[in-house]
Amino acid sequence: MVDNDNHNSNGNKSSNHKKKKTKTKRGGSKRKMSAEQCVAFKAVAEWVCLNQRPPYLSTAASCLVDDFGVQKSSGRGGGRIVFDLHCHSNHSDGFLSPSKLLERAHGNGVKVLALTDHDTLSGIPEAIEAAGRFGIKIIPGVEISTIFSPRCSGNHELEEPVHILAYYSSCGPSRVEELDKVLSNIRDGRFLRAKEMVLKLNHLKLPLKWEHVARIAGKGVAPGRLHVARAMVEAGYVENLKQAFSRYLHDGGPAYSTGNEPRSEEAVQLIHDTGGISVLAHPWALKDPVAVVRTLKSAGLHGIEVFRSDGRLSVYSDLADSYGLLKLGGSDFHGRGGKSESEVGSVNLPVMVLHDFLKAARPIWCDAIAGILQMYADDPSETNLARITRFWRMRQSKDSIIGTGGKDMIDHCLSLWLTAEERQQSAAGFEAIRGKLSSVSIT
Ligand SMILES: [Zn+2]
Ligand SMILES: [Zn+2]
Repeated sequence: MVDNDNHNSNGNKSSNHKKKKTKTKRGGSKRKMSAEQCVAFKAVAEWVCLNQRPPYLSTAASCLVDDFGVQKSSGRGGGRIVFDLHCHSNHSDGFLSPSKLLERAHGNGVKVLALTDHDTLSGIPEAIEAAGRFGIKIIPGVEISTIFSPRCSGNHELEEPVHILAYYSSCGPSRVEELDKVLSNIRDGRFLRAKEMVLKLNHLKLPLKWEHVARIAGKGVAPGRLHVARAMVEAGYVENLKQAFSRYLHDGGPAYSTGNEPRSEEAVQLIHDTGGISVLAHPWALKDPVAVVRTLKSAGLHGIEVFRSDGRLSVYSDLADSYGLLKLGGSDFHGRGGKSESEVGSVNLPVMVLHDFLKAARPIWCDAIAGILQMYADDPSETNLARITRFWRMRQSKDSIIGTGGKDMIDHCLSLWLTAEERQQSAAGFEAIRGKLSSVSIT
């Protein structure tokens, strides 16, 4: 729950969540993977190692798991594959640049990282560039700020901010303009909202300056509550961030203001329409997680976060089970420092969880990739080529496709993005696109 909008907004919340938390103790025993876990591990490893030297493929048999199916390192390097599916850079309210974040993730043994900045994908290209240096795979992600209002209640007090994570294919979202429009609208709303919060603080006789908040957020970053809170601490109006939230900035607080967030259901639908997997972030920060999950499930939600660095939270795991949702999780690392922050790569996701996630995500991502390539086949314009190469590493995009034919480019893309099995499954579709592009030459 450590993020922009749910950051220590009051002391009760954190004591509540301590009560609710049922930490799963990890067994000390190590044992060999079951046959099912071995198959899952191989499938996950194959996807992780696409276009990389495959150091994991041979190690499945020797990899050990604990009582909960979390991979245990068997000696140095081990063969464990660490995913972190939730973290922030300074493209939203994180403190580290995407490059620094990747360096840190690499130091912690992360092999797959979803960068999920608030309401922007702008950090992804730098993350991908840096990830290439460390042999890390990036899942392009975003954490979308939304508002949940219970149906038919008409009671605004029951409204609450809900964060929804979206995970996309290596090629990024399909219909990217649609997503960008919603995200930029949210970001614009945040500027207005942050300005309004500053104004309210000024009326409360705290002469905080807008420039101060903007400076803390950094150039081009949409300021959030946390940035306002940091400015308040720096200006000496409060002792710490917690006090800024508990006295002024909490939901409905004297300096609180709302922005342009879409309704939670609309965001889930948008993620669905743009070829992503949607996951409810930190349900433990919600007033009524069951109502949110029930409504969002019917809007097409794929999963909820149930794993944190302190283990699996059984309350939310049970909730996921009763609604047939994927169980996921990540560190929500911001690079703030401090003892309470979970380190990037500190969440242990069992191999079956990773497998289920990829099993759900890959057909969706595969369709999104086919859609993006099809657009280019129908109209080989520069704009449509840019959609394909949007998240390519610089070197890769420049050297590898200029002067080649459209067919070669498709083959190059598919070898980067899809496993052999996926290519085979959708062979007919991609063959048609290749055929269409046989006469196209990329300049
Ligand atoms: Zn969040
Ligand atoms: Zn977050």
